[in-house]
Amino acid sequence: MSCGFYLSKTRKCTCTKAMLQKYARRLSGPLLDHIDLHINVDPAAYADLSSNVKTSSREIIRNRVIKQGPSVEADRWRYNAQMAPEKTIINCSLGTLEQELLIQDMEKQSFPPVLTPGS
Ligand SMILES: [Zn+2]
Repeated sequence: MSCGFYLSKTRKCTCTKAMLQKYARRLSGPLLDHIDLHINVDPAAYADLSSNVKTSSREIIRNRVIKQGPSVEADRWRYNAQMAPEKTIINCSLGTLEQELLIQDMEKQSFPPVLTPGS
């Protein structure tokens, strides 16, 4: 198992060379043949995902929805994917506890690194 931070600019990879090679072998061959684009991306910081700019736009959207009044049809959905973006913001906003849990989870996260062949 790798630490998930190989090539990361924000965290240090703690894997040995043997661990990285073993992981790269697991990803080689037919699996990589199905992936056309390989990009190394650092995890997004929580602060970037929850900036005040987005909060402002959420408030604008929320006020617009409230001004339009309730619409029975617009409030019906079976799957979350069917929910209008404005409804998602209103119905799925995170509370303080949820935000704290998300921050903790993002700080602990360890996704497997994506290695390019030969790296
Ligand atoms: Zn690592």
